[in-house]
Amino acid sequence: MSDQTPASQEENQQLKALMNDRLWLKVIIGLVLGLMVGALMGPDLGLIGRDSAAAIGGWLALPGNLFLTMIRFVVVPLVIASVALGIAGGEDSQAVKKVGISVLLYFVFTTTVAVSMGIFITSLINPGGYMDQGIIAETMGTATMNVGQNLGLVDAPMPDVIVGLFPTNPMASMASGAMLEIVIAAIIFGVALLMIPKHEAKPLKDVLVSVQSTTMAIVTWLMRFAPIAVFGLLANVMIKVGFSVFAGLTAYIITFFAVMLAIFIFYMFLVYFVAGRNPIDFIKNAREPMVISFSTSSSSATMPVTLKTTEEKLKVNPTVGRLVIPVGATINMDGTAAYQAVVVLFLAQVFGIDLGLPEIAVLLAISIGASIGTPGVPGGALGILLTILISVGIPPEGLAIVLSVDRILDMFRTSLNCTGDMVTATVMERILGLKRTPEQAAEAAKETPLV
Ligand code: ASP
Repeated sequence: MSDQTPASQEENQQLKALMNDRLWLKVIIGLVLGLMVGALMGPDLGLIGRDSAAAIGGWLALPGNLFLTMIRFVVVPLVIASVALGIAGGEDSQAVKKVGISVLLYFVFTTTVAVSMGIFITSLINPGGYMDQGIIAETMGTATMNVGQNLGLVDAPMPDVIVGLFPTNPMASMASGAMLEIVIAAIIFGVALLMIPKHEAKPLKDVLVSVQSTTMAIVTWLMRFAPIAVFGLLANVMIKVGFSVFAGLTAYIITFFAVMLAIFIFYMFLVYFVAGRNPIDFIKNAREPMVISFSTSSSSATMPVTLKTTEEKLKVNPTVGRLVIPVGATINMDGTAAYQAVVVLFLAQVFGIDLGLPEIAVLLAISIGASIGTPGVPGGALGILLTILISVGIPPEGLAIVLSVDRILDMFRTSLNCTGDMVTATVMERILGLKRTPEQAAEAAKETPLV
């Protein structure tokens, strides 16, 4: 990205304009207006018939859905280019090795902390105890849940699961958008590119650089539409969900927020004490991806913005950022992991099932594993969550309890997932002592922040 072609200079001018436009403020205004308009048309006030409201909601969400579709359109090429270049781009294979292994260990560590917080806080608040057990038994039957016995059966045998993570055919992975496989394929290609003679690697690397710049240019255009997209998406969610559904689930929702807040505080602690940065400055610089992931409920769709922000606003060394962000957007989902644990524990409480330590340990492992496999798309956690819940014997009606508010909670956990990736990048840069080189800083200075 060091050669500034006229086109990329022009693109940077556009980015500058976006920044001066205070895009983040517009996105927040879109978010608030969307909530208000959605609440007006939602089921609570009953001003408009449900069917008409749903139809209007669909139209309001149209720009947002187009925005999401287009931004996802660039995700596959961008992830491949970023991850492969993240590994092969820097000439320093030792640094890459150091970053790669440390990042993976760090991901597992933070996810374990997040899930433990989820389990601890949910046990403490005991939200399931606030539900009327009589009504539950009457309307939903009794649970046959047997966590200890069944949790282990959720997935195929471990060796098969591990083999299943690897891509057989990279083209098929790309076509089906299987992000985990794509990331693994890109890592393998990146490592190989680093190993072969420089003159042989150069053509492919040049292509990847070009792919990365092109996809980022598309993201820059799309970002202009973010405020309108966010407005429509939020209006549509409120029209569908409404406020009233929150009432009965207050204790559960409070628990969820307490867990998310605890993880967020843990992050800020890391930012301050480990990365050595001021948390307020961190939040200021990281706010665009935070808001955009909140509105889109998709780590993958936000990934390009997260990457750009990490490099250009948080000023993280590209060797770290380009590796951490795309990989993190796929496998590092602390919010999602903690959410899975909260849900299972909450429903166990609702159905009056006590979980012992061994079951809790299995729950911890499953939640970590599940979050790695969760796609970074809206409601991505649901597929795996349903599998876990059904296999532990929660009656399908029980699922309805958590599903009713999942859409809203998804926004918060996705924003946390995305924040976690940016925190990782700053922490890793510091731990590994990989501050930008003067050349990288000079190169970055030529670029203009996205927003
Ligand atoms: N929507 C989340 C994400 O993209 C995944 C999930 O928790 O459903 O990060």
